[in-house]
Amino acid sequence: MKCACCGKKKKLLESFEELEKDINICVDCSKVLYKYQDAIKEKNVEESKKLLDEIKNKKNEKMFSEWFLKFQERIGAVPRDEKWKNSSQIAGYFV
Ligand SMILES: [Zn+2]
Repeated sequence: MKCACCGKKKKLLESFEELEKDINICVDCSKVLYKYQDAIKEKNVEESKKLLDEIKNKKNEKMFSEWFLKFQERIGAVPRDEKWKNSSQIAGYFV
């Protein structure tokens, strides 16, 4: 098993978090996601932009990218009424 976010392989005693079926991420990536979620909730634009860059700069498997888009919608990182077709638009949202 490897992390769908950064591509790191799971070590024997390491626990991965299952986001969805077949989408598993390592503890480090999970922490960043939670921090990102908090930053969005606190409307901390600087912090959320920094964390978003951090997430996007990792390997990001296709399945993870798709999950991440839904996640962003769920936490209100993108306007609900807008249809975002690709991640480059998402990345530009806070600019
Ligand atoms: Zn990872």
